[in-house]
Amino acid sequence: MTLANDYGVLNEGARALLYRRTGMFLDGAFRDAASGKTMDVVDPTTGGVVANVPDAGAGDVELAVRSAHRAFRDTAWSGLRPHEREAVIMKLAALVEAEADALAQVETVNSGKLIGNTRAFDADFSVHVLRQAAGWATRLSGRMMELAVPYMPNARFTGSTHPRPVGVIGAIVPWNVPLCMAVFKLAPALATGCTIVIKPAERTPLTALRLAELCIEAGIPAGVVNVVTGGATAGQALVEHPLVDKISFTGSTAVGRRIGASAGERLIPFCLELGGKSPVVIAPDADLEMAISGAAWAILGNHGQNCCAGSRLFVHENHFDQVVEGIAQIAASLVIGPGLDPASTMGPMISHEHRDRVVSYVEQARKDGASLITGGDPLSDDGAYMHPAVIVGAGDGSPVAQEEIFGPVLTAFRFDDLDDVMPRVNNSQYGLGASIWTRDMATADRFADKVEAGTVWINNHNTLDCAMPFGGWKQSGFGQELGEEGIRAHLKTQARIVRH
Ligand code: NAD
Repeated sequence: MTLANDYGVLNEGARALLYRRTGMFLDGAFRDAASGKTMDVVDPTTGGVVANVPDAGAGDVELAVRSAHRAFRDTAWSGLRPHEREAVIMKLAALVEAEADALAQVETVNSGKLIGNTRAFDADFSVHVLRQAAGWATRLSGRMMELAVPYMPNARFTGSTHPRPVGVIGAIVPWNVPLCMAVFKLAPALATGCTIVIKPAERTPLTALRLAELCIEAGIPAGVVNVVTGGATAGQALVEHPLVDKISFTGSTAVGRRIGASAGERLIPFCLELGGKSPVVIAPDADLEMAISGAAWAILGNHGQNCCAGSRLFVHENHFDQVVEGIAQIAASLVIGPGLDPASTMGPMISHEHRDRVVSYVEQARKDGASLITGGDPLSDDGAYMHPAVIVGAGDGSPVAQEEIFGPVLTAFRFDDLDDVMPRVNNSQYGLGASIWTRDMATADRFADKVEAGTVWINNHNTLDCAMPFGGWKQSGFGQELGEEGIRAHLKTQARIVRH
């Protein structure tokens, strides 16, 4: 298990995390799958194996859920006073921060993403999310009220509401922002006194395993945080386990739909953060320099492997040629190479299989009569690299206009009137994010009022903040993470009525 080239950047911490033998993290310790089966963890830059982890089956998930259930029942965590939980989560944040370089490097080796990206999002943003959630632990109070009880005029009642942790959270995570997505689920669970079983994506389990170890170091009792490594079998066993009290899933719409149905069957709450096909609209009065760069990075960020990727671009006809050419120039000028190489501005796709799927969309669009302005072809290299593609002339109903490609493929359309184009902007099963580039706030508000999306960005795209709830409309999801909404979604309310 070696890296072809680590560019001299891997620190001792990252080396230790990459080459050690771990296991699933259950009840405070690493262990193998009962079957003894393992999965290879691969560096998409070279295709080389960098670690092995257990391939969990239903029996292993059973142990993990029972561990989380026990930990929830014995109240060593859920029974802590809020300021004590806050202090422990702050300690966890500090431990993640202290290892940010190593965690980012491991994430880059495992996912192919640029080191700047894994540092900013998987490592640093995770620290912010943990700190934000820690603060919520002491702010989750209920309400007290005088009650009317109109049919008992001679009695006096008071009522109070009491927020209580939901219980055991079953958390399922995708591969595109592995540590950060795990923390999106872990942080509110910890803040509210829940316990959790996290199943990272089969391709990117390494940082979640380290996170679970750091939880113990921070003082979180064994069993509160468990990580099962595995694929769909483990995920399904987690979703269907009767002792799981809430499902928190981030992944594809197809899998999310099945998970929602299963959770609905058991009448447990669920949060689904799913796919997208987000529109980017450039109005006639936009600051073009800003809009061209913004629209380019809306699709190129994280190599297009981003649920919010701005993959459908609508440009006012006055600027269409200039904008498309500007974005194509940025796309064609990227330095495509390993994520660990500081000179790279775009790394490989997560796998060859995924890269080939992305490229096949471009080929199909050309066959269907669209024009390719740049890119769309694989690089003849060991890694899962491709040139980012810009397509024009595709039909509104074509696969590149409708389906989530999850890669660096932009499909551009022209329009002449913002109000008239809105039905086309909304012509998608998805409703995750949308952006508009304009100097006029009235135009921005008109757009925001009409667009069907959980998040609207004005003169920016893909910006997330811990304080803002994030979630999709339509087939992009159900429920929200982050913000007050994301925290409160891990609570159930008990109402108490006292007769005086
Ligand atoms: P995926 O749905 O294939 O897998 C996601 C996770 O679900 C993985 O851990 C996988 O092992 C697990 N899984 C697969 N089948 C399962 C089943 N039957 N039961 C339970 N778990 C199962 O998605 P992916 O390819 O890993 O990730 C890409 C997708 O995630 C894209 O659609 C992207 O838009 C979406 N995503 C959404 C957000 C968001 O916040 N809305 C963020 C990141 C990624």
